[in-house]
Amino acid sequence: MLEFLRVRLQQGTRTSPFPGGGAEFPDRFRGRPLFDPAKCAGTCPGCLDGMPSAMLTRGPGGIEVDVGASLFAPEEAAACTGGALTFTRDHRMASRTRGGLVGPNGEVELATTLDETMRRLFGRSLRLRSVVAGSCNGCEAELVALGNVVFDLARFGVQFVASPRHADGLVVTGAVNTNMRRALFETWEATPAPRLVIAVGACAIDGGPFRGSPEVADGVPGELPVDLWIPGCPPHPLTILDGMLRLLGRLEAGS
Ligand code: SF4
Repeated sequence: MLEFLRVRLQQGTRTSPFPGGGAEFPDRFRGRPLFDPAKCAGTCPGCLDGMPSAMLTRGPGGIEVDVGASLFAPEEAAACTGGALTFTRDHRMASRTRGGLVGPNGEVELATTLDETMRRLFGRSLRLRSVVAGSCNGCEAELVALGNVVFDLARFGVQFVASPRHADGLVVTGAVNTNMRRALFETWEATPAPRLVIAVGACAIDGGPFRGSPEVADGVPGELPVDLWIPGCPPHPLTILDGMLRLLGRLEAGS
């Protein structure tokens, strides 16, 4: 027993101080993309075709960056041979709207708080049901990490439950393949209203690396109202946590 206490004291507190303190990321972490239009000649051969994702598209005003479609892969930055595309260390990327993830330079409209009625219902206690709709399990690994001692999602009153009947909302991962489409809609219908839908990862947002396959719906179908879009492939646990806390009004808008 004494040995147990000695080891416990030696280990100290392992829980991240987030959101009260700084967030630490490994060297290889790639955060929100940054596109510098001044470095883009717009004439590089195959820059859009050579991109392993649909994160860059040519709009009427020039190149547009879709952070929701990004795979956060070094190959994406390498495909931009002009060096206009880089990845920052900013983990904050979740948005309330799909359009909030698209812009000329990689800036996103950070998630805003739920309306007052929903915030009163869910702000201090939120139960979520996970729906894995055809993913590689990378996103689920990060969702599981949210429950460990470092991120400790439960300290914010957010927990995953086994049944949609006990849930306040769904967390959807995966590109929504044909086999899971009906299960996703039935799980949504089984969740009592009012309910939230949170799309986690490039697959759930845009199809990710499976985009364009006839077997997937390229993300959460438009019939499901999504309340929060969390980019990443997979998103870092703090990206997910940041988005959820903003949605619940537990993080200041400017932070
Ligand atoms: S977004 Fe990336 S990590 Fe998540 S399920 Fe899709 S491929 Fe896997």
